[in-house]
Amino acid sequence: MSGIRPTGFLHLGNYFGAIRNYVRMQEEFDCYYMVADLHSLTTHPDTRELRTNVHRVLSENIACGLDPEKAALYCQSHVRETSELYLYLNMLAYKGELEKTVTFKDKVRQNPENVNAGLLTYPVLQTADIIIHRAQYVPVGKDQEQHLEMARNFVNRFNHRYGNVFPEPHAFNFNSELIKVPSLDGSGKMSKSENQMSTLYLADGDEVIRKKVMKAKTDNGPTEQNSPKPDYIENVFSLLKLVSDKPVIDHFEMAYNTCNIRYGEMKNQLAEDMVRFIAPIREKTNHILHDEAYLRRVMEQGAEKANQSAAATMQLVRQAIGLNYY
Ligand code: ADP
Repeated sequence: MSGIRPTGFLHLGNYFGAIRNYVRMQEEFDCYYMVADLHSLTTHPDTRELRTNVHRVLSENIACGLDPEKAALYCQSHVRETSELYLYLNMLAYKGELEKTVTFKDKVRQNPENVNAGLLTYPVLQTADIIIHRAQYVPVGKDQEQHLEMARNFVNRFNHRYGNVFPEPHAFNFNSELIKVPSLDGSGKMSKSENQMSTLYLADGDEVIRKKVMKAKTDNGPTEQNSPKPDYIENVFSLLKLVSDKPVIDHFEMAYNTCNIRYGEMKNQLAEDMVRFIAPIREKTNHILHDEAYLRRVMEQGAEKANQSAAATMQLVRQAIGLNYY
C-alpha cells in the first residue's frame, strides 16, 4: 500500500522512490495505491486545483505502468472508513512523539501560519491508510522512513491493547535500500513544490529537461586519480545511474577516476537519456488525462476494491476494541 499527494506534478523522485516499485509489486502482491487527497488538505487548503491534480496524479501513475486492473488505484477520500480508524489511532498517538516528527517540524518551518492539528497527526492518518488494508509492505522513498517507524509503533500499541489485528508495516524497495533522488543543485531531494528548476518533472518538455540538466552544479573535475566525489558530483552520477545504460555509466566513472572527465559531455549524455526516459511518460499522461470517462471508471473500480478491504478490517477493529454492544 502506498500513496502520493495530489499537490502538483510528479517528478523523478516520486518515480524512482515510489512508482517504480508500485509497478513491480503489482505483479506479485495484492496492491492498494491511492491519491492522498485528504493529506493534501493539511498544507494545501485551497481546493480549486484539486480535481485537476487528482486526475493528473492518476494519469501519471498509469502512464508509468501502474495497471488499474491489477492494483486498486483509488482516492483516499473515497474510503470513508479510514477516517474512523484514524480516530481510534489518534487515541494511541502521543503529542510529544508527533511534535518530534521531522516532516512536521519542516512543514512548521515552511508554513508557520498554518500549523493545524491535521499536520501534526499526518503520520496517524498515514498509518490508518496503510493498515486499513492490513498492509505489510509500503513502497516509499527514504524521506518516509520515520513515518513507517511511527506506523509500527501505533500498530504495536493497538495490538498490545486490543489484540493482534494488524501486521507490522515496513518500508519497501525491491533494490533493498530506500532511495533519495537528489535535486539538481545538490541541495536536498527533488520535491513537488521546492526549487522547481532543480527538479525534473515527468511533465517537463524535452528542452526544459535539457536546460535543467545542463544547469546541474559541477566543477573543473578532480586533480587526483580515484579521488572521492563531492556531493553535487555524486548527485549527477546518481541521476546517470537511474536512466543511463551500464556502458555509459562505466565510461564516465572511468573518466572521473582517471581525471579525464568532461562534465559538459556527461551532462549532455544525461540530458539525452533523461529525455528518452521522460518523453514517453509525458505523452502517455497527456493522452490519459483527456479521457475523463476512463479516469472515472478507474476511480470507481479502485474505490470498490479498497472499500471491500477496508470494511473487512474495520469489522475486526470494532470487535477488538469492544465496540459491539448487541
Ligand atoms: P507527499 O506530497 O505526499 O509528501 P511526495 O510527493 O513527497 O508525497 O512523495 C510521494 C512518494 O514519493 C513517497 O513515497 C516519497 O517517499 C517519494 N519521494 C518523494 N520525493 C522523493 C525523492 N526525491 N527521492 C525518492 N523518493 C521520493
